[in-house]
Amino acid sequence: MSSTLLNLPTSTDFSSLSLEQKLDRLAEVAVKIGLGLQPGQEMLLTAPVDAMPLVRRITEHAYKVGALLVTTFYADDPAVLARYQYGPDAAFDYAPVWLHDAIATAFRGGAARMAIAGANPALLAKQDPAKVSRANVAMSKASKPAMELITRHEINWTIVACATPEWAKLVFPGEPESVAVPNLWEAIFRASRIDGDDPVAQWRAHGVELKQRVEMLNAKRYSALRFHSADGATDLTVGLADDHLWAGGGTTAGNGVYCQPNIPTEECFTTPHKDRVDGKVRASKPLSHQGTLIENIQVRFEAGKIVEVHATAGQDVLERLIRTDEGARSLGEVALVPHSSPISQSGLLFWNTLFDENAASHIALGQSYSTCLKGGTKMNDEELAKLGANSSLIHVDWMIGSGQVDVEGVRADGTSEPLMRAGEWV
Ligand code: ZN
Ligand code: ZN
Repeated sequence: MSSTLLNLPTSTDFSSLSLEQKLDRLAEVAVKIGLGLQPGQEMLLTAPVDAMPLVRRITEHAYKVGALLVTTFYADDPAVLARYQYGPDAAFDYAPVWLHDAIATAFRGGAARMAIAGANPALLAKQDPAKVSRANVAMSKASKPAMELITRHEINWTIVACATPEWAKLVFPGEPESVAVPNLWEAIFRASRIDGDDPVAQWRAHGVELKQRVEMLNAKRYSALRFHSADGATDLTVGLADDHLWAGGGTTAGNGVYCQPNIPTEECFTTPHKDRVDGKVRASKPLSHQGTLIENIQVRFEAGKIVEVHATAGQDVLERLIRTDEGARSLGEVALVPHSSPISQSGLLFWNTLFDENAASHIALGQSYSTCLKGGTKMNDEELAKLGANSSLIHVDWMIGSGQVDVEGVRADGTSEPLMRAGEWV
């Protein structure tokens, strides 16, 4: 072994790397593994202003692999808040359709999409929930043409995270910013699996492992999953859509590019049948939705629809959310994540779906992924609905798995077998 090799960073001395070096690793994984950016491909990036150092690293890696052009849209939390404080009432039903149309045009023209998550999860917590909801509906409608290309995986896209001061202080309450921000960065680096010797190679191996799990689940052809906890708070049967397909660990987009849509990702997920969900379920973690924290959610489903909702905080936001449209009270996703995932083991609540959904098995209200149905990407809304796929302006994940929850795979003949015990794969 040469001395040069001995000097290479290893997992044990990851902590000795500078922040710049760690950001560079995250940027490389985001571009090469997350997005799978192709030479000559255009890239659109959205980011909080605090993410500028990471954006610059990502932009460098994008051009190194041959990006045609990188265009970044920055968002600034105080500017978002100013609209709620000083904007006219009509402002909350308006969204820049022209901008979203241009983004959709860029996607159709071959552009890839990367988002850096890092907004303050509690930014809008003290604002009028009716205004928040109206603004979200206006934005969802305006962005639908672009979002459809994302949910149908027509283009390669990915999301990575950046530690920002307000978010960090929420994850590490009581700590000053000077401690909370570095702590959140460390948590993001470890959860995003860039603390090994060769993060790009390790990500490829992680992708293969998830793919094997997906193939096992696809071979089983379960008709439903049953989640239940010993204390009886959760006993939920989630019927799976006819011709459902499990996904996880990366996907080949419609443009032929292989990408990992979420960094981190630990989940295997599929499309439930929108009319075949019954029983009660208790969320295992609080849900941060568009700036409001919804805590201790308990709901009951009947024939696929939520018929009863309880939450100890943010219940009005949750009720408003499920009234968004016809499909907002039905499920569009069910996902399995082992309790031993690095994010779950961190013991942290990130107040951010990108991380928290990868800490626990979850369900999502609203829009389903047509990629999770055989031939789904080529079907129209009517054909998708016939198979049980849900349609909505929203897609909101919430966590129901924990070390106390068991999962059964239910076959078409009604017999079942254990799939997860105490949150772990059997
Ligand atoms: Zn998910
Ligand atoms: Zn989801």
